[in-house]
Amino acid sequence: MNSPNKTEPDTGAQSTTAAALAAAGDRQSAQDIGALDAAAAAVDRKLGATRVGLVERLIYGPAPSLEELRAGGRIARRLEQLEQPVITTALASLAAGEAFTADGKLTDAIRTAVSRERAYGFTIPLTHGGAGGEYVELAGIEEALAANGLGPLAVEISGQLTIGAGSILGYGSDEQRSTFLPLIAEGNLMGFALTEVGVGVNAKKIAAYVETDDLGSYRLFADGARNKLWITNAVHSGLLGVAARIGKDGDEIGLFVLHVPDSDVMDEASDYEFRCEPSHVAAFTANYNSRLHFRNFPIPKANRIPGDGVEVLFYCLRMGRCMLAAMAAGYQRMLARDASYYARRRIGVGGPVIQHELPRLAIGKMLGGSLQSRSLAYLSLQQDASGVDLAGLRDLTKSAAASCAVESMLACEHVLGGRSFDARSRVNAARVNLHLFGVVEGEDDLIRLGMVRDVTQAFVRAYLAPLLDGIRSANVSDDGEPVPARERILVLGPASFFRHPRRSFAALGTVVKHPALWRLARWIVKNAGADLARLLLRALPAAALPRYAAFPSSLRGHVRFAERRLRALKWRYLTLSCCYQLELTRAQIPLQRLGLCIEHLVSMLVMCCHAAERDDSQQQVAALQAQLLKDKYDAVKLIGSLREIARLRRATAGVAEHIESDSMSLFADLQAEQFAHAWDEEPPPGAEPGGAD
Ligand SMILES: Cc1cc2nc3c(=O)[nH]c(=O)nc-3n(C[C@H](O)[C@H](O)[C@H](O)COP(=O)(O)OP(=O)(O)OC[C@H]3O[C@@H](n4cnc5c(N)ncnc54)[C@H](O)[C@@H]3O)c2cc1C
Repeated sequence: MNSPNKTEPDTGAQSTTAAALAAAGDRQSAQDIGALDAAAAAVDRKLGATRVGLVERLIYGPAPSLEELRAGGRIARRLEQLEQPVITTALASLAAGEAFTADGKLTDAIRTAVSRERAYGFTIPLTHGGAGGEYVELAGIEEALAANGLGPLAVEISGQLTIGAGSILGYGSDEQRSTFLPLIAEGNLMGFALTEVGVGVNAKKIAAYVETDDLGSYRLFADGARNKLWITNAVHSGLLGVAARIGKDGDEIGLFVLHVPDSDVMDEASDYEFRCEPSHVAAFTANYNSRLHFRNFPIPKANRIPGDGVEVLFYCLRMGRCMLAAMAAGYQRMLARDASYYARRRIGVGGPVIQHELPRLAIGKMLGGSLQSRSLAYLSLQQDASGVDLAGLRDLTKSAAASCAVESMLACEHVLGGRSFDARSRVNAARVNLHLFGVVEGEDDLIRLGMVRDVTQAFVRAYLAPLLDGIRSANVSDDGEPVPARERILVLGPASFFRHPRRSFAALGTVVKHPALWRLARWIVKNAGADLARLLLRALPAAALPRYAAFPSSLRGHVRFAERRLRALKWRYLTLSCCYQLELTRAQIPLQRLGLCIEHLVSMLVMCCHAAERDDSQQQVAALQAQLLKDKYDAVKLIGSLREIARLRRATAGVAEHIESDSMSLFADLQAEQFAHAWDEEPPPGAEPGGAD
C-alpha cells in the first residue's frame, strides 16, 4: 500500500465497485460500471505506468517530493521562451479579420494558414508528416489560442489530435498510421463518433453496429436512434473514427476509421445511405458539429482499428482532459483581460470599478481559475510523460478546470455587467463553450465519482473488500439464493441486528474472523501513530520546516495545509466506508463531496507549487485562489454532517419517487418539450433501437 511503484493493474476481473453494486442489488449499475471499469483497466494495462498516481500518494503516502509537484511551473517557464509559429500565424489571421465568418464560424482561411504550420499534426511524429511536438507544447498552444479569442480553433485542434490522431497513434496498425496520420497532419479534420441519439455517458451500450460480409469487410448501420450525434470535427470529405458493435447483438465494440463521403448519399440507386448534417447544438457553434446517419455503409476490412472502441476513447480522453484544462486556462485569462481593461476605465459608483473590492475579487477569481487550470494541465502532462499513473489527477484536472471556468464566467459577468452579453464580444461567445466544458470529455460529477474510486481502489482492495465480502455473504439464504431486495443487509449496524439478528451475527462473525480486519487494525495503528507524530510538528511555523522553507512566504502555509488535509482524507474515506459499507457505491452525495475535497486540496497544492516557480504577480494570484479554495474546502460538509447528509439523501429520494411515479403536482398540466430527437419514437432504454429517423 505504501509503495510509490505501481503494482499490477486490474486484471479485468469484476471491479470492486461493480461487485459492491451487485451486492447492493443494483444489477444494472453493476453491469454498466463493470463494463466501463474493464475498458479503463485495459487502458491502464496498455499504458503500463510505473509509478502510483500522485493523488493516491498524497492521500495514502508516501508523500511526493515538492520538486515533483513544482515540475509544471518549470514547464510553463520553458514554454514561454518557445516561439510557436502556429500561434503567431493564427493571431495574424485574427488581426486581419480572417478568422471568423460573418455568422461566427471558423474560416477556411485560418484553417489553411495554421495548417501550413502543421497545427493539425502538431503531436504527430515527423515520420508521419506531423510536427513531432510534445503534448505540453500543444497545451501551451491551446491555452494561447483560447486566451486570444480563438477558443474554437483550440477546440478543433484539440479534438483532431487527442481523440482523432490519438486513437490511431495509440491503437492503429503500422499501415493505418502510414495511411491516415499524414492526412490528419495535412489538416483533414478527424472526428471521433461514439455518442448516439440513444446513448450518452453509458458508452458501452452503443447500438450502432457492423455486419461482416463474405470478404471480411464491414457494413455500418448507425440509423435512427443509432445515429451518431454531436460529433465534433465530423464533416464531409473529412476522416472519422466510428465506434460500433461487431454484429447487431455482439458484445464486442470495434472502432473503424473511414473517409467521410464528399456529399450525402440518400438515393435509391446506391446500396447504402449516408448523411452528415448539423447537429443544431448551441455550443461549439464556430466548429463543425454533426449528426451522422449510416445504413449499410461499406467500410474496408483494413479500416478496423485493433482495439475496443470504448477503451480507445478512454485512452484518448486522458490527453483530451488535459487539453480541455489548458483551454479553460486560456479562456479564463481572456475573461480576466477584458474584465480588468473595462474595470479600469469604467466609472462606477464612487470611482473606477477597479477601485472596489468585489470587482477586484472577481478579476482575481478569473486569474486564479486560469492559474489553477494551467498548473493542473501542465503537471498532469508532465506526470503522464514520466510514467506516473494519471488516475485521479487527469480527472480532477478536467473537473476542476471546467468548474472554475464557469465560475470565472459568472465573475466576469459581475464586472462587465451588460456588456458581457454583447453578441459581438468574445466574452459572450465563450459562455456556452465554458458551460459545455462541464459535460464533454466526461461530465464533472461522474468524473469526481470515478476519481474517488481510482484513488481509493488500492486501499479498498487491500483492506476493505474482503470485509465487505463478509457482509455480502449475509445476503445469501441457506439454499444459496440471494435474499429478496428488501431483506438485504447493506450496513451491518444496530438496525440490521434488530431486524435480521441471525444473519447479522453470522456476517459479524465472518468479518471478525477475517485476517483483513487485523490487517486493517494494523494499518490504523501505524497511520494514526504517524499522524500523531506529525501533530507535534504543527506547533512549528511552516518556515521552520525544511520541506516548506524554500517556498515564498505567501504560499508555504497553503502548501502545508493542503498536504495535511489530503493526508487526513484517508480517515474520512475510512469513516465513510464504515458508515455506508455496501451502500457506499450508491451514496453519490457523500462520495461527490469527498471528490470535491480532493479536487480543492490537490488544486491548491499543485497551483501553489507551480506558482513558486513563477514571478510575484502569479504568486499573488495563487495566494488569492488558494484562500478561495480553502474556503470552498471548509464549506464542504462531510463527516461532521452525516446526519444532515442522511436527511438530504432521504429528501432527494422522496422527490425522485414523485417524479418517477408521475405524481409531482408541480408538473401538473405541464408538457415536457421534446428536442434533439423525439423520445416517443425511440425505444425505451435497453430496448432494441428502432428506425426512427
Ligand atoms: C457540443 C458537443 C460536442 C460533442 N462532441 C462529441 C464528439 O466529438 N464525439 C462524441 O462521441 N460525443 C460528443 N459529444 C457528446 C458528449 O460527450 C455527451 O454529451 C456526453 O457523453 C454525455 O452524453 P449525454 O449528453 O447524452 O448525457 P446522458 O447520457 O443522457 O446523461 C444525462 C446526465 O445524466 C448523468 N448520469 C448518467 N448516469 C449517471 C449516474 N449513474 N450517476 C449520476 N449521473 C448520471 C450524466 O452525467 C449526464 O449529466 C458532444 C456533445 C456536445 C453537446
